[in-house]
Amino acid sequence: MSDNTIETLRARLASGETTAREVVTASLDAAGRLNGTLNAFLEIDREGAAARAAEVRGGALAGVPVAVKDNICVKGLQTSCGSRILGDYEPPYTATAAERLIAAGAVVTGKTNCDEFAMGSSNENSAFGAVRNPWDTERVPGGSSGGSAVAVAARVVPVALGSDTGGSVRQPAALCGVVGLKPTYGRVSRYGLVAFGSSLDQIGTFTLSARDAATVLQVISGRDPADATTADVEVPDYAAHLTGDVKGARLGVPRALFGEGLDAEVRAVVERAIEVFRDLGAEVVDVELPHARYAIAVYYIIATAEASSNLARYDGVRYGFRAEEAPELRSMYRRTREEGFGAEVKRRVMLGTYVLSSGYYDAYYLKAQQVRSLIKADFAKAFESCDAIITPTSPTTAFRLGEKTDDPLAMYLNDIYTVTANLAGIPGVSVPVGLSREGLPVGMQLLARHWDEATMLRLADAYERAAPFTDRPRVCATAG
Ligand code: GLN
Repeated sequence: MSDNTIETLRARLASGETTAREVVTASLDAAGRLNGTLNAFLEIDREGAAARAAEVRGGALAGVPVAVKDNICVKGLQTSCGSRILGDYEPPYTATAAERLIAAGAVVTGKTNCDEFAMGSSNENSAFGAVRNPWDTERVPGGSSGGSAVAVAARVVPVALGSDTGGSVRQPAALCGVVGLKPTYGRVSRYGLVAFGSSLDQIGTFTLSARDAATVLQVISGRDPADATTADVEVPDYAAHLTGDVKGARLGVPRALFGEGLDAEVRAVVERAIEVFRDLGAEVVDVELPHARYAIAVYYIIATAEASSNLARYDGVRYGFRAEEAPELRSMYRRTREEGFGAEVKRRVMLGTYVLSSGYYDAYYLKAQQVRSLIKADFAKAFESCDAIITPTSPTTAFRLGEKTDDPLAMYLNDIYTVTANLAGIPGVSVPVGLSREGLPVGMQLLARHWDEATMLRLADAYERAAPFTDRPRVCATAG
């Protein structure tokens, strides 16, 4: 692979063809050059990153430039969460996942644009302007980790971190033609990830290949004493699982999800991907996920409930922005939140507060938690007859900027294939599998059992070997 992967970078560094300093400088240049067009970065750390690159010694990611979503804390850089209420707030510490990347030799080059507090599927909810899709700059990159997806798709960095609460890594990965992985809940520390829906949030990765995803996951995984929800589960040697052999692997296809609402072209491209697996010797079986049709409703109750509680801390006292000229404490709170939060965040805080209110708790929140258990049980049952499940990642390719901004429900329906994994806590990965007639990327999603990222990555990697995705976006830092 001659593309901008960690793999090729490592080879170029090892042969002495280039140095960490050169690589990082080129990445910073590209970030700056393309930002006027793509708006993927909210902060580019020119001097800091160049200086750190000069000090890189060794490690699995020595000299690899990394971009980090602006809701993941990195000391010395801002963490705005795409929100005016945090603005250029600088956290006093670094998130564990970013810390582990840095310890492995990676150099953080900047913070990426995202939907405000990671709420959105198009990146249009950022207080700092929408991110543009490098395949067609009139279209959205997906969200909420749009900036990170674009930074990797446009070959600015080989690796970026994002967060996935209901699909925010996988969906923008699909719309931008890169690999996006959400680990099992508890695999990667959330310490230093600004909380949105704490029972759903996971930090995930953007890369150009499944092999690179395995490399990065290896570095960031594992128990962290600073996050009690990380599990003490062994982290396998992911690279060792990338054998290219999927003979006999059982691939579950939930046929019922391939109907209504799914774009015909997306469907056809994903069907072809299933045939690739069949040709490789995998066994394709039908599975049922009978409660999947409630997933959007359940997700948008649980996620908003948790968000309304998590976002209570932004009161104008503890962090960032405070409204001016408030006569007394309560109006200071009110004005700060009124001026500091955008429309989508306010909508969710109100929805979440409503579903948690004493009069409606049983009807909405409790009911949603019950159905969440059923969704989880659906997967447990399905994984009795298969090793991984395959679906489209997103029902459509990248849509036009502004196309769905007035219709929150249409926007929420983008997440139909991705939210179930967060509700169940299982891992998922989106892999680019082709282009639509308009030249827009299509992603397939693979889902696996809890802690079984290894099988998922083995399948993804085998697919890439058999049917490599070699197209590049129109806006791209490197020539083909
Ligand atoms: N699009 C979903 C939402 O708006 C998922 C967001 C996410 O994964 N952070 O909530």
